Amino acid sequence: GSARVVVVGGGFGGATAAKYLKHWGGDKVDVTLIDPRARHTSCVMSNLVLNGELPLKDLRFGYGDLTSKYGVQVIKDSVKRIDPTARELTLKQQVPVNYDVLVLAAGISFKKPRGWIANKNPHAWIAGGQTRLLKDQLQAMPAGGTFVMTIPRSPYRCPPGPYERACLVADMLQSNGGGRVVVLDANEGIQAEEETFSRAFDQLYGNVVEYSAGVELGVVDSNANVVETSLGDFSGDVINIIPTQRAGGLVRNNGLTDGGFWAPVDVTTYESTLAGFEDIHIIGDAQGSGQPKSAHMANAQAKICADAILRKLASQPTDHAERLQNITTNSACYSPITRDTASWLTAVFQYDMDKGAMALAHIAEAGEWTRDNYSEMFDWANNLFADVWG
Ligand code: FAD
Repeated sequence: GSARVVVVGGGFGGATAAKYLKHWGGDKVDVTLIDPRARHTSCVMSNLVLNGELPLKDLRFGYGDLTSKYGVQVIKDSVKRIDPTARELTLKQQVPVNYDVLVLAAGISFKKPRGWIANKNPHAWIAGGQTRLLKDQLQAMPAGGTFVMTIPRSPYRCPPGPYERACLVADMLQSNGGGRVVVLDANEGIQAEEETFSRAFDQLYGNVVEYSAGVELGVVDSNANVVETSLGDFSGDVINIIPTQRAGGLVRNNGLTDGGFWAPVDVTTYESTLAGFEDIHIIGDAQGSGQPKSAHMANAQAKICADAILRKLASQPTDHAERLQNITTNSACYSPITRDTASWLTAVFQYDMDKGAMALAHIAEAGEWTRDNYSEMFDWANNLFADVWG
């Protein structure tokens, strides 16, 4: 019969992998997608929910097209345990599921700061209820109020994301008579589009944004809305803790990160490089190949992974020079800077045969915020959403 490929996680990486495995593999593969939620809520564009420019419901995507157009089977459940020897997954509610090949695209989890209560000081870094909570808190902020954001050390998902959020919140406060946006960055400086964001902080939001780099986060008092840091204590009306990130629990607890934060993979197949995990592939934010953690990237990696799986199932090689030379991935992030302008950043990575790793081949950025970029951002996002779930 056909090989059974199971994909865990229906976000950007997993839904793309499931779709292209069936699109390219047809009847040669049985593809099952497992996700605990009936619809995925996209982080991409979710900062625009915070300032009221987009309703959260526009960022929800179901799996109906994957089933009706491509024949992907969907199980609504959460995977708890992987037995790589028996090739069996234990689910939270339903009977175990067996696989021949496994693709893990279950995203990130957080390393919780001491004292932090996510339902009081939302991260809004996994979209959904957290996004709504932060939006509600922003709306309830008193005029002239203070918003405090903490940024974790890289790598975290969406390098420009925190700075973009700081700009949008500053825009909201400024049009509401003023206030403070206190940005406490654990990194030594702005992690993406540095020139653009520092100029925006300066020229657009000079009276609102207070940016500090190299700030270590200590204990969070979520009941009192106070954060302890290496720069002193900060209190605010709304506190947005974006914690340190690492691969989600499923990948970490099953040994696939080897005790580290991210899963080591072979970037020509996205198969785990650890012994004992043959035919287990990890794509998207949870893997640690050094490429930026973005939705666009997860989508590109999913296609390389699907191609490698189908070749291997057809007993074709995946490591011949012609294929390797053509392995590229790319990432694009549009960053809204005000409620109607945006900038953008793109990066292309190419497989380096000598190093056996993905290397940055090209980087480009808008370097300015414009209305045209803002409207192109919707075309870009809609194309991506359609390529993943459509
Ligand atoms: P996800 O998309 O998070 O999907 C993970 C899925 O796995 C979820 O559906 C979850 O329910 C499921 N899952 C988790 N655990 C289990 C389990 N045990 N069993 C079954 N299923 C499970 N990227 C861009 O390219 N461009 C942007 O402009 C951009 N903007 C962003 C803005 C913000 C504010 C944020 C936070 C992120 C942004 N990103 C952007 C980054 C992007 O959202 C992530 O990089 C992307 O979602 C990673 O895809 P993934 O498939 O690894 O994980």
